[in-house]
Amino acid sequence: MNMNFKRKLPIPMETKEMYPVTREMEETVERRITELKEIFSGESDKMALIIGPCSADNEDSVIDYITRLIPVQEKVKDKILIVPRIYTNKPRTTGEGYKGLVHQPDPKAEPDLFKGIIATRELHMRAVKETGFACADEMLYPENHKYLDDLLGYVAVGARSVEDQQHRLTASAIECPVGMKNPTSGDLSVMMNAILAAQHQHDFIYRGWEGRSGGNPYAHAILRGYIDNTGATFPNYHYEALVHLAELFGKWNVKNPAVIIDCNHANSGKNPFEQPRILKEVLHSCRYNPELRKLVKGFMVESYIEDGNQPIGGGVYGKSITDACLGWEKSEKLILDMADAL
Ligand code: PEP
Ligand code: MN
Repeated sequence: MNMNFKRKLPIPMETKEMYPVTREMEETVERRITELKEIFSGESDKMALIIGPCSADNEDSVIDYITRLIPVQEKVKDKILIVPRIYTNKPRTTGEGYKGLVHQPDPKAEPDLFKGIIATRELHMRAVKETGFACADEMLYPENHKYLDDLLGYVAVGARSVEDQQHRLTASAIECPVGMKNPTSGDLSVMMNAILAAQHQHDFIYRGWEGRSGGNPYAHAILRGYIDNTGATFPNYHYEALVHLAELFGKWNVKNPAVIIDCNHANSGKNPFEQPRILKEVLHSCRYNPELRKLVKGFMVESYIEDGNQPIGGGVYGKSITDACLGWEKSEKLILDMADAL
């Protein structure tokens, strides 16, 4: 191989021995996952809100952000279950640019994957311990999932990964709900196939082991909008798109039919300030059509302390260095307005 194998990294078991979760943390994660599963199974009519920065680029500002969610969660707890985003791996369209905390624990420094694995585990551990949330991350590299599997409350498979077999098979072995995004092209059959695959049991190779997964009955859809072959963005959260998805679920033999609406990315045309309007429109569609209220289990929102984004090294605390986000005040209002509308 044309690769310099620089050093052997600790395996997930060794990393967990170095950074173990306490019984209390385990219980927190279990409790949050149970509540989320109740939403996806329909036992609870609360909605899930997966909210936070596009990328978790800085431990202090991410913990600061999630800490601000605590009193808001308390206010809306009868209607909304908040799952903060701690996204530690970023897919890059050309492979260039910031690949996330796992690669670059310091976004301005050279990649350091040893430090990155530790930084990622420590950040998710701090979130559970200090804020009582179990957070969401994107599974960009399936073999890395086991470094965090005892900490995550929600896993997303991204638009660029959802057609990949190893992602689907690994999702079938994950305990918490896994959201399958529609691919960037918008082809919904890719997303539906991914859900079906993740809900079934599979025999496959994982980290050098031959294993059999249990199947994940909480694998579900995430609509994130799409782009056409000229690069123009199109939304897929409008009423007709949701009705179409409901019809698709009617034809596919899927357990716990469910969708999360991603309010940013191609749905907002990457304009984060559209997110409150998009969320309100979807809630309106749900009020108009009870079938949709059953199918739509919540939202994903890209939000941080400051509005917008900045280049790497821009130096503004709590401002995204990847996709532009909704700032704190607007995000808090979005959550309270969402609760009022439910
Ligand atoms: C994200 O959620 O930040 C993301 C990268 O999403 P997508 O896979 O939809 O582009
Ligand atoms: Mn993003």
